[in-house]
Amino acid sequence: MDIQYNEEVVSQIAEHFESILQLLGEDPQREGLQKTPMRAAKALYYATNGYRMNPAEVMKQAIFEYAGSRLVVVKDIEIYSFCEHHILPFFGKVSIGYIPNGNMIGLSKLARVVDVFARRLQVQERLTAEICKEVFDTLSAKGVIVVCSAQHLCMKMRGVEKQDSSTTTIDYLGAFAEDPDLRNQFFESLKH
Ligand SMILES: [Zn+2]
Repeated sequence: MDIQYNEEVVSQIAEHFESILQLLGEDPQREGLQKTPMRAAKALYYATNGYRMNPAEVMKQAIFEYAGSRLVVVKDIEIYSFCEHHILPFFGKVSIGYIPNGNMIGLSKLARVVDVFARRLQVQERLTAEICKEVFDTLSAKGVIVVCSAQHLCMKMRGVEKQDSSTTTIDYLGAFAEDPDLRNQFFESLKH
């Protein structure tokens, strides 16, 4: 994803990173760290670029007429996000199912919508719900279901969690809320 860096904002973030390095007991002037504040600022700006994007606009670029009415499943979209409590990464996969209502969305755009919400400070539950609601509203789908599985570095690095455990969140709207069979059909399709 190409992004436009706001030079003024990025350089202000870099100044803060320099202070943080000092507060941690580092010497920001030593050779390995001289460019670190600017690099870290750019990396953080990039990783939170979802704040500066409109998910509905991203989706509307790739909505096509489609007469089908069967379940569409897009599986294992990678996500990288930051937990809003510790500003440490969480990462994993999102799978989305929807029942079309006269149109469909290009698969790569669905992945970009996931990025728009993931590239912000998040909690996994809200990330899952926001993706679900956005696809439901913007696509006018008959139903949407989203499942997200992720590992949280704030848990792993602080030793709160066993190293191999992950967290799964699920949200659904419309037909998936009304029909458990439809939800089962979705979960069944994820196994293959
Ligand atoms: Zn956290």
